[in-house]
Amino acid sequence: MVNTCSFIEDAADESIEMILELARYKQAGKCKRLVVAGCLPERYREQIAGQMPEVDAFIGTGAYDRVVEALQGSKYPGGCLLPDPDKISPQEKDAPRALSASHMAYLKIAEGCSKHCTYCIIPKLRGTKRSRPPQEVISEAQALLASGVKELVLVAQDTTSYGKDLQPPASLSQLTESLAALPLQPATRSGAVVKNGDVPDAWIRVLYGHPESIDDAFINTVASHSNICSYFDIPIQHVSSAILKKMGRNYNRNDLDRLFDKIREQVPDVSLRTTLIVGFPGEKEKDFKALLRFVENTQFDHLGVFLYSDSEDLQSHGLPNHIPAEVAQERYDQLMSCQLDISAQKYQQYIGQTLSVLVEESVEKRLYAGRAPFQAPEVDGMTYIKSGPAQPDPVIGSFSQIKVSDAMEYDLIGDAV
Ligand code: SF4
Repeated sequence: MVNTCSFIEDAADESIEMILELARYKQAGKCKRLVVAGCLPERYREQIAGQMPEVDAFIGTGAYDRVVEALQGSKYPGGCLLPDPDKISPQEKDAPRALSASHMAYLKIAEGCSKHCTYCIIPKLRGTKRSRPPQEVISEAQALLASGVKELVLVAQDTTSYGKDLQPPASLSQLTESLAALPLQPATRSGAVVKNGDVPDAWIRVLYGHPESIDDAFINTVASHSNICSYFDIPIQHVSSAILKKMGRNYNRNDLDRLFDKIREQVPDVSLRTTLIVGFPGEKEKDFKALLRFVENTQFDHLGVFLYSDSEDLQSHGLPNHIPAEVAQERYDQLMSCQLDISAQKYQQYIGQTLSVLVEESVEKRLYAGRAPFQAPEVDGMTYIKSGPAQPDPVIGSFSQIKVSDAMEYDLIGDAV
């Protein structure tokens, strides 16, 4: 079974490559049945089924609860099962799940999105926002922590508007308060564990906030809980008012300045991450320069940049003045080069500090890789840990204390202490 993404063209291409690779197993008799699930069939529907006869069944995002029957051999008209994603309830708390790492788990708090960014296909593919009831999320978190998970990463398409659709309404602030209060080992509850380098038992991280829905209560919750990482991931996409308006985003540069100033004031050790889109239709040189200046001034700890990805089924496709690919690439390169300098400078400041690091893998003898609280999985850099012959080796899936001895542009190096 291939679980696919089709958010942008590159992701769809990657999904198709994987399907074709697995189809070769089928041709060679090493695979009986090939099922393709998720956003690729949801987006391209019967059209893609017609183009890939080697696939036995395509099931959309509204049919995740029917994966087993699809694998067992059910047949669907035109090869596709595409029920309305709005009709499927978000994940059940006791639904079995496999973790890709035993020490870290993504915890989905809502499914779908009710915003209407003109460049984004997600609301069409995943339906409107449906938050999971707080008790469901808390029960699943308890089970994950009990199974040895050390990092809970809260995700949704728009985490900071969590709960507003529930009856009675809930909020991300209340939810994270409850998760932070889950019974952990005494050492975790005894002080500013994550923020001053003591060894925690588990920490909580929230990804994918939205600038329009981050409220003071949530910022205060992060500030006042030592086991919630001081980490704000807030994709802003752009700062030019003209571009934000065309993107369907209702804020401006001043709103963003105020938001980031407030977060830095209330959470002094915060790590800020954002993502941007360059080459959006109509992006003039002056819009891009404003974006570049904003990145220089705001000094994000982590930055992701995407090239605008066009498609006929997006609202933004109809906008005038599409940007040539080479211009978009040039803008991407400028932003990433600017961020490289910022990141290198910021990481220098950690030299000499002692940090808690969640150890993730052994790289070679006496060298391990892990992540500090300001490094999110898969998207940020790593912290490499050297262990001397006199010390016990760090244990994968647990926290270690390290003293930072060197810094690269996006990674840190330190010694186990
Ligand atoms: S808020 Fe995020 S997921 Fe929702 S439409 Fe906008 S970009 Fe897409």
